[in-house]
Amino acid sequence: MFKNNPSVNLLFLMAVILTSSCTERFYKVDDFPKLTKFDTHVHLSGSNTGIAEQAIADNFKLVSISVDLDEKPDIVQQFNYATFQKNKFPEHVYTITSFTLENWNSPTWEDEVIAKLKEDFERGALGIKIWKNIGMTYKDADGKFIMIDRPRFDKVINFIKQQGKMVIGHLGEPRNCWLPLDSMTVSSDKAYFKDHPQFHMYLHPEYPSYEEQLAARDRFLDRNPGLQFVGAHLASIEWSVDELAKRLDKYPNMAVDMAERICHWQYQSLTDREKVRDFIIKYQDQLIYGTDLYISDFADNSNVKNYAHKLWTEDWKYFVTDETMTAPQVNGSFQGLKLPKEVVDKIYYHNAVKWFNIKD
Ligand SMILES: [Zn+2]
Repeated sequence: MFKNNPSVNLLFLMAVILTSSCTERFYKVDDFPKLTKFDTHVHLSGSNTGIAEQAIADNFKLVSISVDLDEKPDIVQQFNYATFQKNKFPEHVYTITSFTLENWNSPTWEDEVIAKLKEDFERGALGIKIWKNIGMTYKDADGKFIMIDRPRFDKVINFIKQQGKMVIGHLGEPRNCWLPLDSMTVSSDKAYFKDHPQFHMYLHPEYPSYEEQLAARDRFLDRNPGLQFVGAHLASIEWSVDELAKRLDKYPNMAVDMAERICHWQYQSLTDREKVRDFIIKYQDQLIYGTDLYISDFADNSNVKNYAHKLWTEDWKYFVTDETMTAPQVNGSFQGLKLPKEVVDKIYYHNAVKWFNIKD
């Protein structure tokens, strides 16, 4: 009788459909190695291949970024290391180059930069990175800080646009940078600014303020509406998803990477997890996964591999499950965001392909 009752059969069928569609809406912890993912913010600054090897094991592709550091390895050496790794792992490593303002006072600065970028683009760079030393370190002949909205950058940026390349901008710093160490929200910022007092703006009130850094970046975006721009480190608006939402609304040609700033979302999750979750779902087309993993010639490959695997799997757990978690940078426990699959697919894969113009 049971077998022949059509309404019971229908109910059973509906239950099966509902159950399977529920489980398929979300990824699980175990899905981590199955999904091809991008980490778009790493620094492969050596011939050590630990991060790339772990990326292959964990089904990640990497974008290695060169930075205009005032120490070794310099941009040329970093780009050579990254290109070495790209050639060794062509399916898994992509590169971003950079330029320096060292010769800013020379009348041929723009042409020198363009000639160098042309070479790096021919060697496969997807785009360029501009760094916080624009706004915090470099000064012009009159002793004024060189901010990113100077018209003199136009020629270089126009060249980058014409070449179909993109720009990553790490401009400004987390808002914590303008606070005393004991008022900072996450321990990673405390540790960094303790070690890098030259960048701890609380100690340098004569430097441009947090608001001035962001305003210069906004004017730069206003000057370059057609530029494909990725704001590194949540575009230095890591402390408030509401404030970041306003910028992403205003600049649809800007996406942001999460490198080294997921802890700030976790910090905000302590008090309002739903707000963070709703924000990520709403801005799912402008958010890109990245970590800031770094490897040099002096690194211990097996330590780096363990560290990368742990970081990648912990972040995955935060985004795909609703488990209660802790993180070393955050004081307290918070709940994972359990984002829908299509959002996870975008932040880990499709947005990287789109914003970095990756032919994958
Ligand atoms: Zn970085």
